[in-house]
Amino acid sequence: MRLNIRIGNRLRGVFSGKHGSKETLIPEIEEILITSDFGIEFTQIIISDLVKRVGTYEKKEVLATLREILKERITVEPGPPQAKDNSHMTIHLVFGVNGTGKTTSIGKLAHRLKQDNRKVLIAAADTFRDAAVEQLSEWARRADVPVIQQGQGADPGAVVYDAIDAAYARKIDDLIIDTAGRLHNKERLMEELKKISMILDKKAGEATRKRLLVLDATTGQNAIEQARQFNEYTGVDGIILTKLDSSAKGGVACTVSGLLGVPILWAGTGEGIEDLVYFNIDEYIDILLS
Ligand code: GDP
Ligand code: MG
Repeated sequence: MRLNIRIGNRLRGVFSGKHGSKETLIPEIEEILITSDFGIEFTQIIISDLVKRVGTYEKKEVLATLREILKERITVEPGPPQAKDNSHMTIHLVFGVNGTGKTTSIGKLAHRLKQDNRKVLIAAADTFRDAAVEQLSEWARRADVPVIQQGQGADPGAVVYDAIDAAYARKIDDLIIDTAGRLHNKERLMEELKKISMILDKKAGEATRKRLLVLDATTGQNAIEQARQFNEYTGVDGIILTKLDSSAKGGVACTVSGLLGVPILWAGTGEGIEDLVYFNIDEYIDILLS
């Protein structure tokens, strides 16, 4: 991952003064974490862990302990989810707020899975805007995978219903479903998503279900609030964290998985079809603290 999110220099800078005492160091570290998008709540958790564990307040000890705490607190997916020998279909239901990068990420994910020799189908359940189906179809063309669509105005639940039937009939490995952008605090749209999610549960059969929330890393702490709300309505199995290339603050990735217990599965690192990585949060924390 090539990312512009390092806070190691700032952290090391805290120790460059003459005396490193708890009283001066802790507020400065706290400040660095908060301004790096760790958020107040998660920062407090980290700091209270740190104070409990650190003995001497030497640079080396503090930084190593901080790394340890972050790695312990974050949630990781037990093993890569995309094993090639998976005999069941995986259904990826992709949702989130408008403009976070759902459609783009679906294009990238389809491309990535296809490269792993998996048979991929995309469903256009964002039926709200006509342009949405077009945009998705363009990504599908680039990734060279088929699309199931019913056009603008169709009931998104019906699209999902048909798409799952089609996926079983065509012996698809991965079905990826695009949905309309919705604000996490608009009840009607959240209820609609809940309905789609219930159809998924009813129809999915033996398929593995991945409810994937797309979060834009540049929105900072608002991403946490979005994650909380979506998690409450439909449950979230994993996060696609987009625009990490445009974000200079890396804390939000740790906060989402640390505070909500939801793993980040994929990360968007650009606008191209190749710009999606399977998220390795261990590596991410190493980069962040470097
Ligand atoms: P949707 O409304 O959630 O479907 O969002 P789109 O997929 O249409 O993306 C919205 C904008 O974000 C587009 O201009 C994308 O090119 C851009 N975008 C999506 N993912 C990334 C990313 O990882 N990095 C960057 N820099 N831009 C992204
Ligand atoms: Mg879209």
